[in-house]
Amino acid sequence: MIVTRFAPSPTGRLHLGSAYSALFAHEAARRAGGRFLLRIENIDAARCRPAHEQALLADLAWLGLSWETPVRRQSEHMADYRAALGKLQTAGVLYPCFCTRADIAQAAGAPHAADEGEAFYPGTCRGLSREEAAGRIAAGRAYALRLDAAKALAATGDLVWRDRQRGVFAVGRAVLDDVVLARKDIGTSYHLAVTLDDHLQGVTLVTRGEDLLPATPIHRLLQALLGLDVPEWRHHRLIRDETGQRLAKRRESPAIADLRAAGETPATIRARLPLDADFA
Ligand code: GLU
Repeated sequence: MIVTRFAPSPTGRLHLGSAYSALFAHEAARRAGGRFLLRIENIDAARCRPAHEQALLADLAWLGLSWETPVRRQSEHMADYRAALGKLQTAGVLYPCFCTRADIAQAAGAPHAADEGEAFYPGTCRGLSREEAAGRIAAGRAYALRLDAAKALAATGDLVWRDRQRGVFAVGRAVLDDVVLARKDIGTSYHLAVTLDDHLQGVTLVTRGEDLLPATPIHRLLQALLGLDVPEWRHHRLIRDETGQRLAKRRESPAIADLRAAGETPATIRARLPLDADFA
C-alpha cells in the first residue's frame, strides 16, 4: 500500500509551487490506490501561525484535495522528537554547537552562504573537548545539537536510498552535512521531525521538490541510526514562471487565494500545474 503525504509549514499562504507539491503527492497516492496524508510542520512557533494553517487547509480543500484525519501537527509531538534525540545522544553521534550564523559564515569564508542555508557546517565545534563544551553549557551559552555525520556513517556502514524516478543513490561522507538536529530555540529541527514523522505515520513514498534532494541522505542516515522504516522517495520538478525562474516560496509567487480572487477556478489552477507528464 502506497502512503504519501504533503507536509507544509504554515508560515504563509499556499503558493503555486507548494500547491503543485500537494497535488503531486495526492496524485501519486491516487494512481496507486493508496493513502494520502497531510502533516502540519509547525515546530517553529515563532514563524508558524494558526491562521495560516486554516487558510492552507481551506485552499487545499478548494483545490479538490481530501486527506485522512486527524492531521498530524508537529507541535503536538515534541516529546517524540525529544525521545529520538535522546537515542542519538546515547549513540554518541551528536555534539553541541555554540556557533552563531555569523561565526559559521566567517569560518566558511563565504559571508552570505550560511544565510541562504547552502554552506556545509565547517565543523568548528566538532573538535571541542567534553570539558570545554560542558564549561560553556554551565556558563549558560546557548547551543544547538549537530549530527556528527562522519561518526554516524561509520556506525551505520554503507547506505543507499532510492528515488523512484532517478534511481539508487549511495550515502557517502561527501554529501552529508553536520546538520542541526536540535535548534537552539526549539529543541528539534526539520530533519529530525520530518524523518521521525514519516516513519510514525507509515509513509512509504516521500514526494517533495528536488530542492530537497540534499536532505535525503541525511534522512536515510537518521533512519538507520534510529531503526526507522525506509520509504522510497520521489523528488519532483520545481514550478517555474514564464522566464524559467523558480517559484520559491519566499519570492514573489502567486498565492492560491489571490488567483481565486482573480477568478481562477480549481480547474484553471490544475491546468497551470499539469501532472500527466510527470506520471507518464
Ligand atoms: N515542511 C517542509 C517544507 O515545507 C516539508 C518538506 C518535505 O516534504 O520533506 O519544505
